[in-house]
Amino acid sequence: MIQNVTSLEMPVDEEFRIVKNHITRGKGKRICIVTGTHGDELEGQYVCYLIAKMVSENKQHLTGTVDIYPALNPLGIDTMQRGVPAFDLDMNRIFPGDSRGSMIEKVAHDIYTDLSGADMVIDIHASNIFLREIPQVRISEMTAPTLVPSAQKMGIDFIWVHQAATVLESTLAHALNSTGTPCLVAEMGVGGRISHSMCQHLVDGIQNLMHSMGIWDEAPSPEKIGESIVCEGADTVSFINAQTSGIFITEIHNDMMVREGQSIGQIIEPLTGKVLSNVLSPCDGLLFTIRAYPVVYEGSLLGRIFRGQPQSSKQQN
Ligand SMILES: [Zn+2]
Repeated sequence: MIQNVTSLEMPVDEEFRIVKNHITRGKGKRICIVTGTHGDELEGQYVCYLIAKMVSENKQHLTGTVDIYPALNPLGIDTMQRGVPAFDLDMNRIFPGDSRGSMIEKVAHDIYTDLSGADMVIDIHASNIFLREIPQVRISEMTAPTLVPSAQKMGIDFIWVHQAATVLESTLAHALNSTGTPCLVAEMGVGGRISHSMCQHLVDGIQNLMHSMGIWDEAPSPEKIGESIVCEGADTVSFINAQTSGIFITEIHNDMMVREGQSIGQIIEPLTGKVLSNVLSPCDGLLFTIRAYPVVYEGSLLGRIFRGQPQSSKQQN
């Protein structure tokens, strides 16, 4: 059943609506799949489609409630903008919102209220247009004891327990987690694109989590659920930053084991035909982030490497 989460009048005879697909059967737990806070991150659109299709076409397996929110920032998605158009703000910096605040603060409040009390919220992001990420869940150190086991049930490739980034105060995930509603932030792919296989992988993981929570009575086949790498501690991730401005060229892809000193790419100068900088891996490890957008400035992030245990299943280069 399609339901309004919030509805506001726009200045000139239009209506701003955020909707969810509420699918329920039985008295089991409730999981919410939310995405589209950042309008330039589209992977979640395909994940929502796959979950909605799976649940609506196989409702006999449902033993609880699935709520699907494909667009928390519909204006941003419609216009391919990260933030909320006309308001010039990042929607993921205003939660839990304010019922008596500005229009967007009220929208955030209504979303937060609607999600509160769920047994699990999965907030799906997609990096940005600059960086390509392997499927991962980012968890704050504070919530790690309760959330890491749930993320492992999803069999997501990489679980990054850390202090900052997407677990900042005023994000949706922080607002929910700090008030007792568990929320996992999934991140994968690259902004503005959809990776079918990554999305299907995440859907298999969400199905497995739903099964473990008693919301779905059928588990995916075991070979679809891999083992997660859990990355904890500030010194387990190395960052590769550009040493000069220019155009970053690489043939390498992420989700790959790299060796210390291995070439990650080059920063070139189109005007003179010169290589300005050879980009080398500072350590052995799993390259889980790689720059997707070629224009770089000195200091731009080019890649991130997890220096933990090498996984034999990952491709060596
Ligand atoms: Zn995002």
